[in-house]
Amino acid sequence: MVPFVKEKKMIKFFRFVLLVAILGGATVHAQDYPNKVITIVVPFAAGGPTDTVARLLAQAMGADLKQQVLVENVGGAGGTLGAGRVARAAPDGYTLFLHHIGQSTAPALYRKLPYNAIDDFEPIGLVTDVPMTLVARKDFPAKDMKELLAYLKANKDKVSYANAGLGSASHLCGMLFMSAIQTDLTTVPYKGTGPAMNDLLGGQVDFMCDQTTNTTSQIKGGKIKAYAVTTKTRVPSLPDLPTLHESGLPNFEVAVWHGLYAPKGTPKPVIDRLVRALQAALKDATVKQRFAELGTEPVAENRATPQALRTHLKAEIEKWDPIIKKAGVYAD
Ligand code: ASP
Repeated sequence: MVPFVKEKKMIKFFRFVLLVAILGGATVHAQDYPNKVITIVVPFAAGGPTDTVARLLAQAMGADLKQQVLVENVGGAGGTLGAGRVARAAPDGYTLFLHHIGQSTAPALYRKLPYNAIDDFEPIGLVTDVPMTLVARKDFPAKDMKELLAYLKANKDKVSYANAGLGSASHLCGMLFMSAIQTDLTTVPYKGTGPAMNDLLGGQVDFMCDQTTNTTSQIKGGKIKAYAVTTKTRVPSLPDLPTLHESGLPNFEVAVWHGLYAPKGTPKPVIDRLVRALQAALKDATVKQRFAELGTEPVAENRATPQALRTHLKAEIEKWDPIIKKAGVYAD
């Protein structure tokens, strides 16, 4: 009896020692964080809109953290490859993840997702809201929305539509657009809309729906044709483009949002430090100026928080689930 009681006490003691060691370790870890290079994983190819936002963020967060922040592109499967990689990464604050609306649409689109979009990540904060634009190669026959709709219906077998894979924003926008105009086009998947834009510029693909962060300078430079924006209201940096709503597709609205995450289990003091760095980056003059030029703006500080991103992600998952299920689109 006595030895058994002693043994129990000893187990309790060792548990206590272990807990102190873990908490102590976390504190020390957070105190000298960051002491090596941080990587932001972008789940799309380099040169695209998510990559653009990530690189601006990396630069400005790096300045605040006094540590180099790099971007690693892990494109493929509409963003789910990169998400899976981060879900399995060490939760030590040195691997972060910048993803967009796809974090909320993938759970409905993929029957077997190798991660849980909510439970496997620590939210850090929202970053930006980005409008999308309907664009086509420069010599595409239609000159405005009216002509575009007529042309697509009459030539649906000839028109190719680029996207960044099932689960990407360009896929979501295209899926909703094709369903709104009741016309199926041939889709061409890429690892990101950076390479898709190259093919649009080169005329190898006809048509795309993509973020203003990837299309604004090409539209303004006259290198591609633009027809409409997908937001509820017109976009100040592209004032001549009508909304889809005013172009005869009532209530059509897709706005892309970006969130910054860390793997689940990243210590709270590290997350707190990253929140401060994110908020500082969103106030950075270069970030604000580049975002404005690209048709977007940083979110307000009260949205660049873990709570705001957690709430938004859950609401978006609930919003898109029935819409995607109704559209009957999924991947295995
Ligand atoms: N814009 C892409 C998408 O359709 C992703 C990217 O390349 O950033 O989701």
